[in-house]
Amino acid sequence: MADPLDKIKPQVRRLSAYTLNAPETPVKINQNENPYDLPESIKQEVIARLADRPWSRYPAFVPDQLLETLAKFSNWQSNGILAGNGSNELIQALFTVTVQPGTKVILSEPTFTLYRLLIEVLGGEVVNVPPLENFKYNIEAIRDTAREKDVDLIVICSPNNPTGSRIDDNDLIKLLEEFPGLVVIDEAYHEFSGKSVVPLLKEARNLIVLRTFSKAMALAGLRIGYLLSSPELATEIAKAKLPYNINFFSQMAAIVAVEKFEEELRPVIHRLIEERERLFANLLTIKGLKPVPSEANFILTETEIPPAELFSRLVSAGILIRDVSRYPMLGRYTRISIGSVEENDLLIENLKKIFI
Ligand code: PMP
Repeated sequence: MADPLDKIKPQVRRLSAYTLNAPETPVKINQNENPYDLPESIKQEVIARLADRPWSRYPAFVPDQLLETLAKFSNWQSNGILAGNGSNELIQALFTVTVQPGTKVILSEPTFTLYRLLIEVLGGEVVNVPPLENFKYNIEAIRDTAREKDVDLIVICSPNNPTGSRIDDNDLIKLLEEFPGLVVIDEAYHEFSGKSVVPLLKEARNLIVLRTFSKAMALAGLRIGYLLSSPELATEIAKAKLPYNINFFSQMAAIVAVEKFEEELRPVIHRLIEERERLFANLLTIKGLKPVPSEANFILTETEIPPAELFSRLVSAGILIRDVSRYPMLGRYTRISIGSVEENDLLIENLKKIFI
């Protein structure tokens, strides 16, 4: 009998699924989530506004209220914004309308692994332009490779997961001017850098920006992301998005989180940035660790102890970090998300014990 699996695309059979090794531990600093839960005042407000809404009815066909809120929040026009069930969904929609067999996409690996997975599922070709030794983007090599290989798309995660480095604004402006294809900037962690490339959208019609509520905005569990681009590009990308992709509960949570951003969420982001700097300074003092400066809510660090062993020893101490040693260039590295003050103290204490 024929093997039903023969009907799966060969490039998909060759891939490994996106996975996560995540045993349960009291301290969870492996997914770059916000360690401080969404404030109670926001949760209660969301529940109060939705108690009387008929749950038997679909959400609005176009989530106008959410899009208007996102437009004000990001200072970009609402007809150039798409909201998604996490930014993952929008990465998928974007690649669905741009990548086909023969499409060339520049990535700078190590980076978020979902990009390569989705590009390869769609039959596209990843052209990898590794970063410099200090993990900064190799902008000359990106520009030259794009020209020489007639690349269609450049995807840049900035600040990059898992290295924490951000593309320089002037480098990006030049790239946008010179490169005739699309440039995608995934700024999932932009709040922790204090910078955004959204203001560049006015001039650059080939720029697409991705953002999420899963990190700084403390809403990973409700799955909200958004994409910003020219209205023309947004209209095309919307064709690959499922209707009613965001439930009304998550939509309302995002709206209220934006309304209460200044008083409730911005101070938490400041605290996490301070904690990142404190943790970085502490990691520097530990012999056997070499942290990489980060503009995100995590720190990549080289470790003298094999990363898999460090992972297990910290799990035994109740702390879950991310072993990124299988990423290109990162055989000796591990990634640590910024936890609460107490969690970071506990991590430092345990690392000092391990690296004596
Ligand atoms: N982009 C980057 C760079 C990420 O690290 C993540 C989550 N790990 C995402 C996008 C996806 O986030 P979400 O789907 O939760 O919005």
